[in-house]
Amino acid sequence: MNTSFLHHAFGVREQECSRVRYEDKSIIIEIQTRKDKLCCPCCGSKHIIRSGSQLRRFRGVPIGSKPLLLEMKVQRIECKDCYCIRQEHVHFVTGKRSYTNRLARLVVELSRIGTIKDVAHFLHLSWDTVKDIQKRYLQRHYGNPDLSKLEYIGIDEFAVAKGHIYKTRVVDLLTGQVVYMGDGKGSDALDGFWKKLKRTNALIKGIATDLSPAFVSSVMTNAPEATLVFDHFHVVKLMNDALDDIRRSIYREEKDLNKRKVLKGTRWLLLCNGKDIFDDKFKSRLDNALKLNEPLMKAYYLKESLKEIWMQMDKDQAAKVLDN
Ligand SMILES: [Zn+2]
Repeated sequence: MNTSFLHHAFGVREQECSRVRYEDKSIIIEIQTRKDKLCCPCCGSKHIIRSGSQLRRFRGVPIGSKPLLLEMKVQRIECKDCYCIRQEHVHFVTGKRSYTNRLARLVVELSRIGTIKDVAHFLHLSWDTVKDIQKRYLQRHYGNPDLSKLEYIGIDEFAVAKGHIYKTRVVDLLTGQVVYMGDGKGSDALDGFWKKLKRTNALIKGIATDLSPAFVSSVMTNAPEATLVFDHFHVVKLMNDALDDIRRSIYREEKDLNKRKVLKGTRWLLLCNGKDIFDDKFKSRLDNALKLNEPLMKAYYLKESLKEIWMQMDKDQAAKVLDN
């Protein structure tokens, strides 16, 4: 096999192919390092002697639907200059991995359009190998984000492992990148973030959080100069919870079975955005429920107008709408 083909197809630059064979539906390419490329892995000297070898196999990019293995006699090298005795450096593989860098790159590309299971199946790899490649890629590219240019951040918690474990994440609101992940959902979940941030000269201008007192006090203590903003979603959610409580108590107290029927099942109509209800049938169901009860109607229209605050061009306008 041509060395240029080895280079372009598999990222193998310093080796030559001695034989291609087929075994258990796999293509096996036997390769070895060219004599002029062999050197000491410690100092780069060519003043070396070869002392034995180890046969190693590396998974490469498949050809068509056939898995491909690069089988290489990896030389043990004794250096006459620095006296180190080591295996030669295999440039197309990282560390002790059993797959080529080129294959790892293909896994990352395919992971953008398929699940781990799909990618593993397509490339004849195990689920664990695909997951491992993804994790290493993410760690390398996003493991140590630059905090020095942060200006606007969002802080929020989320549950993992069916709600048994909480994590707190910090997001750069301008790029959408996750810049920190802390354990738990208390203020101590953010300690590591503030420590890292202080080592940079970043000047945070705005921070959006949910209504958690832990986050609020953590922001007040560590970034007092930043404007604290409560995320729109969390404020509307509180309003929706209040509206739902009113609907439930009205339903419980209503003795008239027909009226109860009208109220039943209106929860999502009340909670969804009024402008999004296009269907006449749903619209009249909502109107009927509202007509039945004045407190419910008041609460509903308060909820709808609360959203107007976020539509205003500036803070003064928003304050006026809120007062109204
Ligand atoms: Zn050496």
